[in-house]
Amino acid sequence: MNVSFYTLGCKLNYAETSQLQHLFEQAGHTVVPFGNPTDAVIINTCTVTENADKECRQIVRRTLRQSPQAFVGVTGCYAQLQPEEIASIEGVDAVFGAKEKFQIPALIGDFHKFDTPHCFISELDGDLDFVESQSVETDSRTRAFLKLQDGCDYKCSFCTIPLARGKSRSMAFDLIPQRIKRLEAEGFHEVVISGINLGDYAAQTGENFTDVVRCIAAMKPNLRVRISSIEPNLLTPEIINIVASSDAFCKSFHIPLQSGSPEILRMMRRRYKAEYYHDLIHRIKSAIPDCGIGVDVIVGFPGETDTHFEETFQFLHGLPVSYLHVFSYSERENTPAAEYSAAGQSVPMHIRAERSKRLRTLSAKKKFEFYRSQCGLEKTIIPETRNEATGQWVGWTENYVRTEFVGQQTTVQKPVLVRLLETDGETVQSELLGNITPFAPQQQPSYIPIIM
Ligand code: SF4
Repeated sequence: MNVSFYTLGCKLNYAETSQLQHLFEQAGHTVVPFGNPTDAVIINTCTVTENADKECRQIVRRTLRQSPQAFVGVTGCYAQLQPEEIASIEGVDAVFGAKEKFQIPALIGDFHKFDTPHCFISELDGDLDFVESQSVETDSRTRAFLKLQDGCDYKCSFCTIPLARGKSRSMAFDLIPQRIKRLEAEGFHEVVISGINLGDYAAQTGENFTDVVRCIAAMKPNLRVRISSIEPNLLTPEIINIVASSDAFCKSFHIPLQSGSPEILRMMRRRYKAEYYHDLIHRIKSAIPDCGIGVDVIVGFPGETDTHFEETFQFLHGLPVSYLHVFSYSERENTPAAEYSAAGQSVPMHIRAERSKRLRTLSAKKKFEFYRSQCGLEKTIIPETRNEATGQWVGWTENYVRTEFVGQQTTVQKPVLVRLLETDGETVQSELLGNITPFAPQQQPSYIPIIM
């Protein structure tokens, strides 16, 4: 049987879709690109996505236009939270919850259209198994995502992820070096270690995330490792010191803040104070002056007044961070924050949009300043994609600067050394200095000059 997949949402969802594809292939099916004629399609949904319902309907319609007899299965966070809503979408045959996601081929042996949709959903109250997943970001196969942790035990008042994904669970500690070595042997040059609440990694054998970082640094892998989003309260001084001193780690962090207002942070039930976050960023910058730091922030949380927003704006304005990911708050059923909204604390949509715009403008300025501060420096990048018309390669430096340079087609998949030259705030134009062989220490790269 031919089967295709469609993924919405975060990198973790993409990693899990890859794992699902693998399971279908093991069961003897053939994975075909989405949009090709197919016998079945599996849609992996997200709860954070705005209009998840609308998007899901559109994808089902697109599938059935191309393949009217295709079996349509829907899984992912939205499926776990709103199975009936999804089952009511015309053309959907089955809905699979978080526990059932990786059992789809076994649950539906013979994929054909059902007369009435089936829901395979269990409660997520007990312990859940950790299911390994990894994915590849680009066609050039330079960067892989490796899931080390899933679920979340926190109770941030705006978030449905703990309801959709269940309790925190982690990959076995001794598997981590094995998986990284395997990716290295497969030719990847960068691995992004990720999780829903990655810093909350807790192996059944007792190791925590600091142990993971220490273990990877000791491995000295022949690739670079990037830490995906990590909660500020879990980013320990030891992790910062290891990242600062180890060539294995990219000099970048992504640290959700969500609000710079102490009162809103409290209402969000976040586990740190604004002053702590402020000190954390300064600690990182003094240990790693070039560190790229991304920040998640939510505007329009229920009860957020102009004064609260101004606190957030000024707080971020004064912080040496590189860019912001700005989200407009949107109500999620079954969360305390949605109750605050229902109780009259909702922020009007046009104000959410205005605040979002102000922070996006601030983000653009921060990014421009950060990129400009890097001009003149030599950095290692892994070329990912090439514009055939201009001959320009695009890649990311270890400290998360997007850069472009003119290079040969064969440059792909090989780390190179570039000098960053000038920026328009979106990207930095660079000149190619040479190939790095093998993946070299970032401080004193040994490289082979390229004669163009
Ligand atoms: S840490 Fe908070 S925001 Fe992040 S997944 Fe857990 S509950 Fe959601």
